[in-house]
Amino acid sequence: MIRTRFTEMFGVQHPVVQGGMQWVGRAELTSAVANAGALGFLTALTQPTPEDLVKEIARCREMTDKPFGVNLTILPTLVPRPYGEYIDAIISSGIKIVETAGNSPKPFLPKFKENGVKIIHKCTSVRHGISAEKVGVDAISMDGFECAGHPGEDDIPNLVLLPAAANVIKIPMIASGGLADARGLVAALALGCEGVNMGTRFMATKEAPIHQRVKEAIVGSDERSTALILRTLRNTSRVFGNSVAKKAIAMEKEGKGIEEIGPYVAGAKGRVVYETGDMEHGIWSAGTSMGLINDIPTCKELVDRIVSEAEAIIKARLGGMAA
Ligand code: NAD
Repeated sequence: MIRTRFTEMFGVQHPVVQGGMQWVGRAELTSAVANAGALGFLTALTQPTPEDLVKEIARCREMTDKPFGVNLTILPTLVPRPYGEYIDAIISSGIKIVETAGNSPKPFLPKFKENGVKIIHKCTSVRHGISAEKVGVDAISMDGFECAGHPGEDDIPNLVLLPAAANVIKIPMIASGGLADARGLVAALALGCEGVNMGTRFMATKEAPIHQRVKEAIVGSDERSTALILRTLRNTSRVFGNSVAKKAIAMEKEGKGIEEIGPYVAGAKGRVVYETGDMEHGIWSAGTSMGLINDIPTCKELVDRIVSEAEAIIKARLGGMAA
């Protein structure tokens, strides 16, 4: 058992989180993570409407009686999304933990707080972490350059980002980006965090509701298999380095804008990859942690393994060195 301020604050057994993942964060995965004693998040925008989110939360509750949360990412989208209505759906469903990402959660905090919702805000820089703490979020998920999805524009990996943040942030912080095993968890604790957030690692689990070929691609790839798209638009996204990602980067080099690149990088196309296993149909998020992922366990096998191996590293390996 590893107890931290994070496990205490959020009432979970293990300091392990499955963060928001567009098209992946559905009830099958989130409930399996919760049942494994970790903290899972449904991804709000994966559901086409707020009403569908209400149904997905209810479906997840049928699959677990443990706590879980909802991720709400506020970034530019190709089709406008009604964020206020998604927030109402989250609150009316009785969700008490929300992971916000992409933009400051300040405008929504009063409403969440009034309804007893705790906020974990995902940040990609120390300065954003300081601001989030100042406006009153409950915890920070600090996302290093290694991560899948949007790493921000500073390109600071976690070996520096996490301790730099821990130097100035007082609320509980978890590490995100490049984490996939027990060594990552122990390192995150050593660097000043209270737990880890993992995305790509949870995609390669039996319960992840995505095509087997995507899971096998994660296992078969290494830390060099990602690509950074949308850099020129200052909305960088780390995705699997397939032919569509390369096409998008080539278009960026030609100076093309979102109007022309959008049809290639659209999430709707990435969703088809997850559903059909047609690996070149669109872009799909993946992190450098692919270099550490070599199997497709159940969520429980994964979480149990990470925690038990982390305990062994702390007690036997590090404890022995200190003695
Ligand atoms: P989408 O199809 O609307 O957009 C595809 C990509 O283009 C996204 O990266 C988006 O941020 C970017 N984009 C759209 N309009 C843009 C603009 N005007 N300028 C610059 N970039 C632009 O995205 P989606 O797949 O439907 O996902 C919905 C939202 O969730 C997006 O904002 C996406 O970035 C975000 N997301 C969240 C997670 C998560 O883990 N929560 C993971 C991946 C993506």
